[in-house]
Amino acid sequence: MPCVLEVDNLINAAGLGAVALTRNWQWLPASQKPQQWYARGVYFSYSGQHSFRQLVYPLPEPGGLGVHLTLDLAGQIRFGPDLEWIEREDYSVQLERKAAFVDAIRRWWPRLNPEKLQPAYAGIRPKLAGPDSGFRDFRIDGPPQHGVAGLVNLFGIESPGLTACLAIADEVAERLR
Ligand SMILES: Cc1cc2nc3c(=O)[nH]c(=O)nc-3n(C[C@H](O)[C@H](O)[C@H](O)COP(=O)(O)OP(=O)(O)OC[C@H]3O[C@@H](n4cnc5c(N)ncnc54)[C@H](O)[C@@H]3O)c2cc1C
Repeated sequence: MPCVLEVDNLINAAGLGAVALTRNWQWLPASQKPQQWYARGVYFSYSGQHSFRQLVYPLPEPGGLGVHLTLDLAGQIRFGPDLEWIEREDYSVQLERKAAFVDAIRRWWPRLNPEKLQPAYAGIRPKLAGPDSGFRDFRIDGPPQHGVAGLVNLFGIESPGLTACLAIADEVAERLR
């Protein structure tokens, strides 16, 4: 049984699913539905000895920040995320990515013991530009962009979307004013 909801405002903040959600919206012009690519990033955790006390960021690489070191509150370290263009949502962590991690980490931490690196987890970035097509920033599309009253679409909210979430929320409210 179809359900009809009547709302004053509709904020599409469906992350990776935001573009797909608009597919059946005939009332939204096709030009307002961007193409989206998937860029998976995996993490490896480290169970060996270390003396890191802070995060370590190498120079960024195209499409991402590069494999960096994160320290959790218990002092455990993990490395990632890397960047891999994929066709569909798939959160598996392939063991064969480990060799590239070892190379990347050893550039700034030669003492790394590869045997202590284990696959951890994966995340997927919703990208608005594909491989080799540069960088596209977040899209916060409101009525001034697409002409539909009360609608805001959030597209391509990848990192640092979490850090920027309060500023994004302010911007959404602004678009609806
Ligand atoms: C590997 C990785 C590392 C990152 N590191 C950082 C970082 O260090 N700092 C930082 O600031 N940001 C980081 N980010 C980015 C951050 O995670 C995102 O910017 C943030 O999660 C986006 O929030 P959101 O609410 O827009 O989308 P999401 O967090 O993706 O939430 C969208 C929600 O909508 C739901 N949904 C999807 N489709 C539908 C549907 N059809 N109907 C109903 N619900 C639906 C989903 O299940 C999900 O719960 C990272 C991202 C990745 C992938």
